[in-house]
Amino acid sequence: MTDIKVIGVVGAGQMGRGIAQVAAMSGYEVKVFDISKEGLDFGLGFIDKQLNRGVEKGKWDQAFVDTTKSNLDGITDMNKLNTCDLIIEAATENKKIKFEIFKQLDEVAKPGAILASNTSSISITEIAAVTKRPQDVAGMHFMNPVPVMKLVETITGLETSEATINAVEAASEKMGKTVVRADDVAGFAVNRILMPMINEAFYTLYEGVADAKGIDNAMKLGCNQPMGPLELADFIGLDTCLAIMDVLNEGLGDTKYRACPLLKKYVAAGRFGRKVGKGVYEY
Ligand code: NAD
Repeated sequence: MTDIKVIGVVGAGQMGRGIAQVAAMSGYEVKVFDISKEGLDFGLGFIDKQLNRGVEKGKWDQAFVDTTKSNLDGITDMNKLNTCDLIIEAATENKKIKFEIFKQLDEVAKPGAILASNTSSISITEIAAVTKRPQDVAGMHFMNPVPVMKLVETITGLETSEATINAVEAASEKMGKTVVRADDVAGFAVNRILMPMINEAFYTLYEGVADAKGIDNAMKLGCNQPMGPLELADFIGLDTCLAIMDVLNEGLGDTKYRACPLLKKYVAAGRFGRKVGKGVYEY
C-alpha cells in the first residue's frame, strides 16, 4: 500500500487537529475521529477558524480554503475509518489508551492500510505488537503546532517494513514536512533531548534557583531559544510531558529521567498547561 489518498486521524486534540488540517491542505481526503464528540467539534471548529484567519491575512485564497474544508470529514463512528489508506493516531499519551485504539484500528482498517502513531515516546514496536499487521505500523511524530513546525520524526518499529516507512515519509513530505528517521528507543531523538531539559527546568524552579519567568528568560536570552522551557511545557501540555518522562524513566532505566515532583504536582492538580488555561503560568 503506497498510494495514499485517504487519511484517518484519531484524536482531534492539539496535535490531531493540526495533522488533519495539514493533510487536508495537502489534498488528502481526511476523516477525523475522536472518542469525545465535544473534542471533535472543538477540533474541527479550531481548524475552521485557522483556515478563515489565513484568508483574512491573505495567506490563502477562499477557493483553496473551500477545497480544504471539503476534504475534511468529522466522524464519531470508528468503523468509518475503513476507507483510509493511512491512519494517524494522535490520542492521549497513554499506553493503555493507545494499545486499545490500535487493537480496534487493526479490526477496522482495510488490509494493507498503514497505521501510524504520533506518540511522543511510546514504543512503536510495542504498539505494533498489539496488531496482526506489525509490518504496516510506524511512528509519525509531528511537532506542535503542526501547521508551523517543519519536522516529522519517523520511527521504525522492529517489524516495520521498508515499504511502510517509505510510504509514511512520502506522505509527510507531501504535507510539506522534512523527515528525520529515528530508531524505536524511548523518546526517539527529539524527546530524548527535549524532555530532560524541560524536566530540569522544573527542578530549577522546584529548588528555587530562579523563578519561572527568570528560567524562561535565561534560556531565551542566554541560549537563543524562541520559547523558554516552562512556557514550552505549558504549550506541549504538562500531562504529556509527565507521560513522556515516565516512558524515558521506565524505558532507559536511569534515575536522571525521574520526573520532577513539581511537574507531578501540577499534573495532579489538573494544571495541564495552555489547553486548560493554567499550567506553570495562567492564560
Ligand atoms: P490532547 O490532550 O490535546 O488531545 C488528545 C485527544 O485524544 C483528545 O481530543 C481526546 O478526546 C482524544 N482521545 C482520547 N482517547 C481517545 C480514544 N480512545 N479514541 C479517540 N480519541 C481519543 O493531546 P495532544 O497534545 O494532541 O497529544 C496527542 C498525541 O500527540 C500524544 O500521543 C502526544 O504525546 C503526541 N504529541 C504531542 C505534542 C504536543 O506538543 N502536545 C507534540 C508531538 C506529539
